[in-house]
Amino acid sequence: MKSPATKTLLINSEQLFDGFKVMHDASVLVKGGKIVEVGRRDFRADKTLETSFLMPGLIDMHVHVAGYTEDFRDPFKAVKNFLNLLLYNGVTAVRDVGNYLETKFFVEKWREKNPAPLFFSSGPMLDEPPLKWFHSRAVSSIDEAKTQVRRLHFEGMDLIKVYDGVKPKTLKAIVDEAHSKGLRVAGHLGATSAIEAAKIGIDTIEHAGKLLDKSYVGDAEKGDGSGKEIAEMFKIWCKADLSSERVKELIQILVERGTYVCPTLLVLRRSVYVEEGLKDPNIDYMEKVMPYQKYFKYMRNPLSRLLFSKRFKKFMPFMLTKEDRELARKGFEKISEFVGMLAKAGVKIIAGTDSPNPFIVPGFSLHQELELLVQAGLKPLQALKSATSTAAEALGKNLGVIEQGALANLLLIDGNPIKHVRDLEKIEDIILEGKVLERDELANRIE
Ligand SMILES: [Zn+2]
Repeated sequence: MKSPATKTLLINSEQLFDGFKVMHDASVLVKGGKIVEVGRRDFRADKTLETSFLMPGLIDMHVHVAGYTEDFRDPFKAVKNFLNLLLYNGVTAVRDVGNYLETKFFVEKWREKNPAPLFFSSGPMLDEPPLKWFHSRAVSSIDEAKTQVRRLHFEGMDLIKVYDGVKPKTLKAIVDEAHSKGLRVAGHLGATSAIEAAKIGIDTIEHAGKLLDKSYVGDAEKGDGSGKEIAEMFKIWCKADLSSERVKELIQILVERGTYVCPTLLVLRRSVYVEEGLKDPNIDYMEKVMPYQKYFKYMRNPLSRLLFSKRFKKFMPFMLTKEDRELARKGFEKISEFVGMLAKAGVKIIAGTDSPNPFIVPGFSLHQELELLVQAGLKPLQALKSATSTAAEALGKNLGVIEQGALANLLLIDGNPIKHVRDLEKIEDIILEGKVLERDELANRIE
């Protein structure tokens, strides 16, 4: 927004999480969209708010603020709904990792007059052919890889996202070129292993499930390649020995290189526990960003379940068969356990949701992801860091913290997320660049 409030705003809190630690009975003074004072002294201000818990706005590190709309009068309606759902849930910044250039251009214009989260976007993903997404750009040679990075930089993108076809040589060219332009690189890996990618210097690895590959299981254990990719992935995890030397080496390299891992546990879990997704009351919002997802809520009723089962299968490409599901549950538990191991070893974890995948509702899903990170073994404080200070560090931005000079993106919560991370749902007020937003009004903006 262009015109942050010029008056002073004071927030007194019983507990204040500044992105790193918790302070008791602390106050924050906000002026001109920024935090000007933090501490226990008496400040005077034009307006005062009281809260039990004050923290920085949340950052979702893996979204695709895409969606599509069937409304031709307003092709960006789905994007606007996405942004409002994020804000409604206290998400004041996102890292958008695979999208059309136009989305970034649209959001920037939209932010000038409307409240919206900060939007850091990779724009189109880079991939070696054959391309799997319509908006991806092909990098078939080292030269092409460098040219495409320069192009995205020129087009104003904030980072580079590589997709699973990118092989080590190409990845190295992309990473070197991107770093020389001050851009970071995020990777959905496949043709390059996590160890190789970390050694090359990739900044963030997306999806914990992608950390291990077939090379971590014995020859006899490898799948026959006939199944779905996701089922194959769960098979690898079921068989993998998490105490093996190779796994230890992977963890060590991630720690040494400071590679961030964005686990995206919820999207995996929802592919395994479909019923859980169907029961989530918030999935009714999904059709506001992805109209086809209206079929999912019909699945709650046994009769319409029969009627719409074909459409459900069509729109749930990652649906597992009954036989695969048992294996997938075990696989998911192993992945979750591994994320806990990573955090314990000191690997930097950043929270991301991969919304708007099926059942992954913008905003609400970040609270759920943090809960899964806690179940995986992170302390609630670590989980909150993964969506605030550590996330901002991975973006290379002065965000996700409450300190003098930082942007005043704040959440006032009637609860204690340090004890129960679920308390994030009890947001009372959202402050965006110094301005108090009306939560109800944000909800009303969702068309
Ligand atoms: Zn994604």
